[in-house]
Amino acid sequence: MTTLTPILSRNWDRTDSFTLDGYQATGGYDALRKALAMEPDAIVDLVKQSGLRGRGGAGFPTGMKWGFLPKDNPNPRYLVVNADESEPGTCKDIPLMLANPHVLVEGVAIASYAIKSNQAFIYVRGEVVHVIRRLRKAVADAYEAGLLGRDILGSGFDLDVVVHAGAGAYICGEETALLDSLEGYRGQPRLKPPFPAVAGLYASPTVVNNVESIASVPGIVANGAEWFTSMGTEKSAGFGFFSLSGHVTRPGQYEAPLGITLRELLDMAGGVRAGHSLKFWTPGGSSTPIFTDQHLDTPLDFESVGAAGSMLGTRALQVFDETTCVVRAVGRWIAFYAHESCGKCTPCREGNYWMVQVLDRIERGEGTEADLDKLLDICDNLLGRSFCALGDGATSPVMSSIKHFRQEYIDHVEQGGCPFDHAKSTLWG
Ligand code: NAD
Ligand code: SF4
Repeated sequence: MTTLTPILSRNWDRTDSFTLDGYQATGGYDALRKALAMEPDAIVDLVKQSGLRGRGGAGFPTGMKWGFLPKDNPNPRYLVVNADESEPGTCKDIPLMLANPHVLVEGVAIASYAIKSNQAFIYVRGEVVHVIRRLRKAVADAYEAGLLGRDILGSGFDLDVVVHAGAGAYICGEETALLDSLEGYRGQPRLKPPFPAVAGLYASPTVVNNVESIASVPGIVANGAEWFTSMGTEKSAGFGFFSLSGHVTRPGQYEAPLGITLRELLDMAGGVRAGHSLKFWTPGGSSTPIFTDQHLDTPLDFESVGAAGSMLGTRALQVFDETTCVVRAVGRWIAFYAHESCGKCTPCREGNYWMVQVLDRIERGEGTEADLDKLLDICDNLLGRSFCALGDGATSPVMSSIKHFRQEYIDHVEQGGCPFDHAKSTLWG
């Protein structure tokens, strides 16, 4: 039986968890002191050995990404923290920054020192004004205490940190659109390669990491790589937040080793809401193929979820019971992607628009069975043909829902409307 590993969330119940004093009272910034006494390259090696993989969804090895920075480029290096969390169902970075902003600030200082950067940015989703305020206060307090700025803790290392508020566009969570936005341009994805590691912010070598990835670094420095690899699985080391939402008795953040299953998490969360049963769920937000009750025992690590036909993504576990119409749920998600499509490439701009039209008419009872082939045909023109992951991701809920619930789509067609009473599903009423 896997148990929870409250590490980043261990002090969330303290009323002063977000203050500098509260953080330092529980060992906060000790890892920075330790790191500043190490060689920068030794920290990169340590993070490589830990096996930490990007917590923003893609799972790219963090230490390897740091190691990609070219050694012969004379331009300044930048660290950019992607705090533009916006994927439907994804809600881990925002509570983390709210409850413990200093673990992120400490991680930023250690990571910047390791990659030899003197300028870091935290790009925060614009709508979360309370989080932006809290982060700015944490950064100001860290400057005041000599933990940021000139000659940090007498080490000779200088670091400036800017907390930048985005303007509320989902696409600005895509790392290159984020960099465009940070430079003052309209946020649209850039062609990769070159990856940001080679030509990122202001065409300079840049590491872009997710909030949870950077917040995991102080623990690794303080406790060592073996401590981290002692949790999780061989290829998906460590712990992470599993965000349970939807038809769950006790929704919230469950910090656990990678490889835990939804069945175990539901046991801790009081199960699906009383009197109801699990119908479908997302392992990692709405851009990952949906799972059903057949996948309750799939270990939630990168490899196992992939082998079972989905992606671990951001571990945003949105749970839906039998009262939920899958066509309606998928229609809502695709309407989101259509709205947030940046319009740069035709497959995503047009494809998402048309998928919304087709899903809406099926849900209204005006669809035909041929519409299912039409949806799959549109997905075929989106997947692998879109400029960035937004277009690819939008196909996931459509294709997987038709795979698992084809008959439910056909019921809409045959019955001339939605067979569900939406009032019974508190999520979609
Ligand atoms: P990706 O696999 O293209 O890249 C992952 C990271 O690795 C990037 O930082 C990239 O620069 C780096 N990288 C990959 N190959 C590299 C190379 N050869 N050299 C140097 N660096 C390299 O994935 P992505 O498009 O950045 O992200 C997609 C993921 O984002 C999805 O899996 C989804 O789960 C997630 N996502 C998260 C949110 C959220 O709110 N957190 C929103 C939407 C999507
Ligand atoms: Fe923009 Fe969508 Fe194309 Fe990405 S896939 S570049 S969001 S239009």
